[in-house]
Amino acid sequence: MKLKTVLLTCVIGALAAGPAASQNVAWTQAVPPLKIIDNTYWVGSADLAAILITTPAGHILLDVGVPQNAGLVKKNIEALGFKVNDIKVLLNTHAHFDHSGGLAKLKADTGARMIASEGDTYALEKGVYPGSETQANLNFPPVKVDRQVKDGDTVTLGGVTLTANITPGHSRGCTTWTWPVKDGARTLTAGAFCSASVAANRVTGANLQYPGIVADYRSTFAKAKTMKIDVFLAAHGSFFDLAGKRARIAPGAPNPFIDPAGFQRLIASQERAFEQTQGAAR
Ligand SMILES: [Zn+2]
Repeated sequence: MKLKTVLLTCVIGALAAGPAASQNVAWTQAVPPLKIIDNTYWVGSADLAAILITTPAGHILLDVGVPQNAGLVKKNIEALGFKVNDIKVLLNTHAHFDHSGGLAKLKADTGARMIASEGDTYALEKGVYPGSETQANLNFPPVKVDRQVKDGDTVTLGGVTLTANITPGHSRGCTTWTWPVKDGARTLTAGAFCSASVAANRVTGANLQYPGIVADYRSTFAKAKTMKIDVFLAAHGSFFDLAGKRARIAPGAPNPFIDPAGFQRLIASQERAFEQTQGAAR
């Protein structure tokens, strides 16, 4: 009885403190930077993406993680031999504090242009979780968006072109960025999947996170099934088994990050999890 009470208190305490306090330790855990393929590098923490795409005209940084990951990301970039000041463009998978929190700091340090989806611009510029504005623990340092993109728009720097594929639901403007990479003589498509997990979103009842969220999730599942992502990356390392794939890198072995089936498996499992919430609501 006593243990039960203690456990219950812990759970309630963690819930009251919110995601910032109960977050996975992997979110802020430093790991060595890693070349994924060609000009594409993981410079994030053990679980939160920061993806560096280098070009002859400067670099692109996609996501930074929580605010306190800014230093870790900068260190990882320098450890690879690149200059933080050469970052010219900042991109974002989605405007939640665990992926956007460090963008304002990187923008201030580098003067890079912040390019983001129309759907997530409000959240980025206010530093809030739309529909949960009163939850201060979800807030993050706001960042000014210099250019807004729609589905299919492209961003080019130094001859490298990334495409914004809007995959809404997890956030209104959730963006899956794709770009070509060289693997020997062939060209593959790298992609960083935004997310289609339910997470903190209200997806049932009258008080939805935002109007149209259910249809948005379903449109994303349908769209993702038609997308071919060869080099599968995502907003969270756990979505594509970053640690397991890192361990499988070996001279002469196939690049473990070339995993189009892994992308489709993630979509199928996130779709199942989403539809379970809808089934329960009926
Ligand atoms: Zn999120």
